[in-house]
Amino acid sequence: MQHLYDLSFDELTAFIVGMGQPKFRTRQVWEWMYKKAVSSFDEMSNLPLSFRQKLEERAVLETAVVVSNQLSSDKQTRKVLFQLPDGQYVETVFMGYRRRRTICISTQAGCAMGCVFCATGQMGFVRHLTVGEIVAQAIYFSRDLVAKGERITNIVLMGMGEPLHNYKNTLAAIDRLNDEDGLNIGARKITISTVGMVPAILRYADEGRQTPIAISLHAATNAERDKLIPVNKKWPIEDIIDACHYYIEKTGRRITFEWALISGQNDTIEQAQALGRLVHGMLCHVNLIPLNPTTGFSGNPSSRERIDAFQQELEKYQVSSTVRLRRGIDIQAGCGQLRDRVVNA
Ligand code: SAH
Ligand code: SF4
Repeated sequence: MQHLYDLSFDELTAFIVGMGQPKFRTRQVWEWMYKKAVSSFDEMSNLPLSFRQKLEERAVLETAVVVSNQLSSDKQTRKVLFQLPDGQYVETVFMGYRRRRTICISTQAGCAMGCVFCATGQMGFVRHLTVGEIVAQAIYFSRDLVAKGERITNIVLMGMGEPLHNYKNTLAAIDRLNDEDGLNIGARKITISTVGMVPAILRYADEGRQTPIAISLHAATNAERDKLIPVNKKWPIEDIIDACHYYIEKTGRRITFEWALISGQNDTIEQAQALGRLVHGMLCHVNLIPLNPTTGFSGNPSSRERIDAFQQELEKYQVSSTVRLRRGIDIQAGCGQLRDRVVNA
């Protein structure tokens, strides 16, 4: 069976022509898939019945099964756990605040980077997601939005997995999400979040793309970062910062640093000062997020006072930062957390 979301427009054309259909059918099928986000061939009402039946026999639209679908108590965050045909789980989170309709999608089942505070890191790496498996997460949420006359406005690649480890599929998926004849999500409205895979950041900078990147820094000294992020030994802070300077120089774009505040560990004034010295004068912004507690890590989120003190210290170095609220805590909307609860229940 062919997973249709795995195919580019040209590949879909070849597939459809191979079924003895005229080329113009591709555009029709594409519209049903990406603009209307239908879930069955039956709904593709402008296709001949015989073609729809053939598609049914040879192709699939949805390969993932929804295992859990939860709405947070404030009704603004929805989290879906999908099971893939090989039994693996991936999570997708939808957040609707004010006019924004943001989805947080996964790029891998599991993750090889092993960050100690992360539920996905705690499970280890299973496999890369295909282009179709990445894109289908957006399609799933697009379906309900289209029915309401709305659309996805932003996408963050902050679900399970390290996007730059699955480089080729991630970038192909971004191109697909970006497609004007499809979901048409602006390249600038998509954010790639990375643990700091230095060679991939350099390669990405050379591509001259509009899609911004966020770096999960979480500590400003190697001694502290080594404890949280094992791959820091491979790609230490100074190399990441060099890669960021290269990226900024090449693209003229601002870099975002992510910082999950863990009480007593990386929320100290010393860490804030070290961060201030590290990125002072750089075209960047820091997102401060209180840690989401996970079963495999004993750290706790920082208190509001500690967060404020951290932020004030950064201001002394003219480093701009935003404190991000934790949303959807009651539905375990943090990366990898829902799978954790279903599998280990
Ligand atoms: N692998 C990529 C993207 C997925 S993780 C990356 O690491 O950037 C998305 C973000 O969630 C990262 O900034 C990551 O550090 C953060 N994160 C993971 N577990 C977390 C937790 N328990 N609490 C707060 N943030 C967490
Ligand atoms: Fe992987 Fe990102 Fe989790 Fe680290 S934080 S283990 S890189 S998903």
